[in-house]
Amino acid sequence: MLIDSGFRVGGIGIPEIVLSTDRTLMSHHHHKEFLGFGTTAAPVVFPEFVWLELFAPRMKADKNGLPWQAPYGLRKIEAKLKSAGYEADVVLPEKLDEALVDAKILLISHHDYFGFGPPSSTFASIFGRETVNARSFKRFMNNPAIAEAKKRGLKIIAGGPAAWQWRHRENLMKQWGIDCVFDGEGERIIVDLVKKAINGGTLPKYVEMSPADSPTLEEIPCIMRPSVNGLVEIMRGCPRGCKFCSVTHRPLRFIPMDRIEQEMKLNHEAGVKCLGLHSEDVLLYGGTGIIPNAEKVIELNRVAKKYSDHVIWAHASIAAIVKGERESKLISRVAEVLINDKQKWWGAEIGVETGSVPLARNTMPQKAKPYAIEQWPELVIEAAGIMQDVNMIPAMTVIAGLPDEKEEDVLRTMDLIDDLWDFKSIIMPMFFVPMGMLSNEDWFKAFKLSDTHILLLKRCLSHGALQGRNILKEYFSDRWYGSIISTMYFGFLSTIEVIAKHKGYWSEPEKTSTRPSGESSGTEHAQ
Ligand code: SF4
Repeated sequence: MLIDSGFRVGGIGIPEIVLSTDRTLMSHHHHKEFLGFGTTAAPVVFPEFVWLELFAPRMKADKNGLPWQAPYGLRKIEAKLKSAGYEADVVLPEKLDEALVDAKILLISHHDYFGFGPPSSTFASIFGRETVNARSFKRFMNNPAIAEAKKRGLKIIAGGPAAWQWRHRENLMKQWGIDCVFDGEGERIIVDLVKKAINGGTLPKYVEMSPADSPTLEEIPCIMRPSVNGLVEIMRGCPRGCKFCSVTHRPLRFIPMDRIEQEMKLNHEAGVKCLGLHSEDVLLYGGTGIIPNAEKVIELNRVAKKYSDHVIWAHASIAAIVKGERESKLISRVAEVLINDKQKWWGAEIGVETGSVPLARNTMPQKAKPYAIEQWPELVIEAAGIMQDVNMIPAMTVIAGLPDEKEEDVLRTMDLIDDLWDFKSIIMPMFFVPMGMLSNEDWFKAFKLSDTHILLLKRCLSHGALQGRNILKEYFSDRWYGSIISTMYFGFLSTIEVIAKHKGYWSEPEKTSTRPSGESSGTEHAQ
């Protein structure tokens, strides 16, 4: 049985299955998960290498030449294959040429292979050029070592959250020799696919996993090596049923606490200092439907805090923040667990999506539950107040370009952004690009935004540059060189502001109205 090839010091072992991805994902983003979003931008103002250094520094190798940390999804598949007796290793992109010498299969994964996903597509269409992550992935695939290995019979299987994008780039599938694309949760199918490929069988061009094919808890292994920024999955699925989201069709599964702790411990022992709880809504861990279970959430965070001084959440929802705080002071109690002299804040990505009640009712009717969707904008403001009081700093997303969206919907979203103007957060605009458009090689040049969309983008950019600098005051407070690195990002944001103002991309609200926590800033903003 071949379990662990273990890359050797000064040289690489020879796994039969190599898993990898490009630098923008194989990075710890300076130990700040949300800095990874910087790679979804188009490389403007500064040369691309500056963007890469700022947002995706190279991952260092461990003593065996393997990545010290690797993307969580790749780690899960690596663990699944190892458990099935295969010799499989996640490999640094820089070491592909050594790793592929005798490999039979290359497994790749990505969040956004071609920059079609939000927010990359937003940035690509604004600036009419490919984003940092899409460029980086192309360089990864154009590595001559892959072409050489293909000549020797290497099979390539592509998966991950962005697997759907290959259907719009069949020419590249052919050019790079991608044998199979699988879309969906991989644990149930990957061993069979690999077995088939190793035995010389023909792989299906596409495999789409239906929600009914989702793996059970027993089929999901624990990772065996450290994940990027200590990310640990706590649950899968989401019960809210938003129309634009595929996650929601999958069954809800809570990973048992002992397995969560096992992964936290593994990361901790490998020297990973931070810890991220991954879920579509951390506040629903152990809950009943959309009602949080306060005790489970607090226990989860207590356990996490045992293994890291700096715990963040991948996602949380507006409605659960409000419900949890109103009913059981949940957010305040979590803050008592997480915030101390070593951790001043914690972050999460939070979907606001729209400030328009009619659009919210059409596209995400359950998003406000247990409250009525008609209260959506007020719930967002209330949640912002709750977060502000405990120094929870979210990256909030807004979506524009949804089908049936009207101009007044975009204006309502802009009103909501104005109401959040002084709230310490990042608001990321995301555009829905019509799928038909993606077949065009230069789709991002052809995608036209309305004037109102452009104004929304300017507003988000201006808010981001202003609040980004505000956030930076504490963002790197967990390390001795924090002030040095903060100064670098501060300069970056200031340059963006100067250029945005010079080019007419700057936009601030004429006046502020509702404030988080019901406070008025007393500040008037000039357009
Ligand atoms: S709340 Fe988020 S994860 Fe859940 S269905 Fe809606 S968009 Fe998807």
